[in-house]
Amino acid sequence: MAINKKLSRMKVNPAYNTKEALLALYNKPLLELVFEAATMHRQFHNPREVQMSSLLSIKTGGCSEDCGYCPQAARYHTDVEVKKMMTVESVIEQATNAKANGSSRLCMGAAWREVRDNRDFDNVIEMVQAVNDLDMEVCCTLGMMNEDQAKRLKNAGLFAYNHNLDTSPDYYGDVISTREYEDRLRTIDNARKAGLTVCSGGIIGMGEAIEDRIGMLMSYVNMETPPDSIPINALVAVEGTPMEDQKPIEQWEMIRMVATTRLAFPMSVVRLSAGRTKMSMEGQALCFMAGASSIFAGDKLLTTANPDFNADKEMFDILGLIPKQSFADHDKPETKPDEILIEKKAKAEARALELENAKRQMV
Ligand code: SF4
Repeated sequence: MAINKKLSRMKVNPAYNTKEALLALYNKPLLELVFEAATMHRQFHNPREVQMSSLLSIKTGGCSEDCGYCPQAARYHTDVEVKKMMTVESVIEQATNAKANGSSRLCMGAAWREVRDNRDFDNVIEMVQAVNDLDMEVCCTLGMMNEDQAKRLKNAGLFAYNHNLDTSPDYYGDVISTREYEDRLRTIDNARKAGLTVCSGGIIGMGEAIEDRIGMLMSYVNMETPPDSIPINALVAVEGTPMEDQKPIEQWEMIRMVATTRLAFPMSVVRLSAGRTKMSMEGQALCFMAGASSIFAGDKLLTTANPDFNADKEMFDILGLIPKQSFADHDKPETKPDEILIEKKAKAEARALELENAKRQMV
């Protein structure tokens, strides 16, 4: 596909880099907005390609944070069952299955406030190495992390780190109180410094004003480099969370948000994420037309429902979409040996040997 060379470096569209311009864009007559977004989409992306990504909860529930939309927060009484960390083997099994069903990216999520330098994180490092070896793009969403932790993930072969801003700085305090907007920006910065691609987006339908949706996009406009990938989610209001009574948003709002994001960040991948079960195929088609080029596939999105693989396969057939291959936009990351894991394994082997020798001497 021919890409307009003049536009090839346009990460942020200068026509829409102010709050006023973005707001006017969002409120344009819908079909004009979709047409403009579709035209821009074709400058940078193959409009038939849509990436199928799978989202896997590697550690579910019991989170200490208070994100108002999240059924995994320990303080809310929801149906989510707390589960301990998955094993590396079961992650490989799930990843292999997702790949066989057409997914080229696996996002692993852990219900943590932040990454800690413990055995669970060592396990994540092994999971990242193993899934990268399957030739899938590996993304993690593990909460806040420092630069050293980001570097470890990068060396393991991590492709992307997901950390959503969720909403505008102004509305953020109504959604989460246990950490600051600044903390989120710092983690995104740490991922960037480590050389990871950044996936960061938000949720609409949490009771925010349209200005807050635009405010979130402005946070990305103001970054040195905007996210490579911007997921747009519709709130899935889960019983037991503070947002359980939020009215579902109209699918037109998703289409507007996708189109506005596409036009503001022409090169980023816009991901049509949570909330697809409430959308018609026609509504989703308009989102693809307006520039969404990724969906989450598989019947679970962490803990909430999502269309199953077969329903999405049928939709791809009807709309003439083709699954996007892994590493189409960036090279596959190289997996480098993890010094910490090597040292820990060597110590464990030495300890096992000592024990064995001690047993022999006792016989
Ligand atoms: S940090 Fe993540 S898992 Fe924890 S409550 Fe917030 S969204 Fe849920």
